[in-house]
Amino acid sequence: MIVGAGGLGCPAALYLTAAGIGRITLVDSDKVDLTNLQRQILYRSESVGQVKVDAARAALNAVNPDVAIVAVHERLEDFSAVAGADVVLDCTDNFATRHAINRACVKHGKPLVSGAAIRFDAQLMVFDRRKPGAACYACLFPEDAQVEEAQCSTMGVFAPLTGVIGAMQAMEALKLLAGVGESLDGRMVIFDAKNADWRTVRVKHDPACSVCGSRTARGCAA
Ligand SMILES: [Zn+2]
Repeated sequence: MIVGAGGLGCPAALYLTAAGIGRITLVDSDKVDLTNLQRQILYRSESVGQVKVDAARAALNAVNPDVAIVAVHERLEDFSAVAGADVVLDCTDNFATRHAINRACVKHGKPLVSGAAIRFDAQLMVFDRRKPGAACYACLFPEDAQVEEAQCSTMGVFAPLTGVIGAMQAMEALKLLAGVGESLDGRMVIFDAKNADWRTVRVKHDPACSVCGSRTARGCAA
């Protein structure tokens, strides 16, 4: 499942479809705007005004008609549909949706590949709750924290940066699905594109996390 068919979701979906992933549920409530075209690489000039998930499905199936693209043109608040997914890609741009996706992934024990990009800065994280002691998104960014929303639509983003992070989300998703290598779980990649600086920092489970804390505490006790 890919939530968000924007700057991150477009390249992620393109690589996963080209890889022949099987089925992608693509969720987005927006229509294509002219200002999207600089980074949302599934869309063309003639896509402006179209429903994003419909334009995306056509573009993706032109690459690989054998991949089933389930287009969900809705602003979801309930992500119980992640129960049917093997891996979830958070390609959204607001904290409320990110937290709703995280809650569903924790509840259903699904691996979450989370990407974010704004201006020249980006982050990439994997939360694999199938692993004992794994963190969740809320361990890092508590739900009750006062955060300043910054969205690409208002703040701008360096377009190739969304391509880099979206492609990396597809890469981590394929690794998780194929069981290849070491996933990014437990670490966060921070990319400062302006200074071409990559850093990787450890991400720890918070026993007091309001989303995953108590369940893991019980697991540890057992
Ligand atoms: Zn947590």
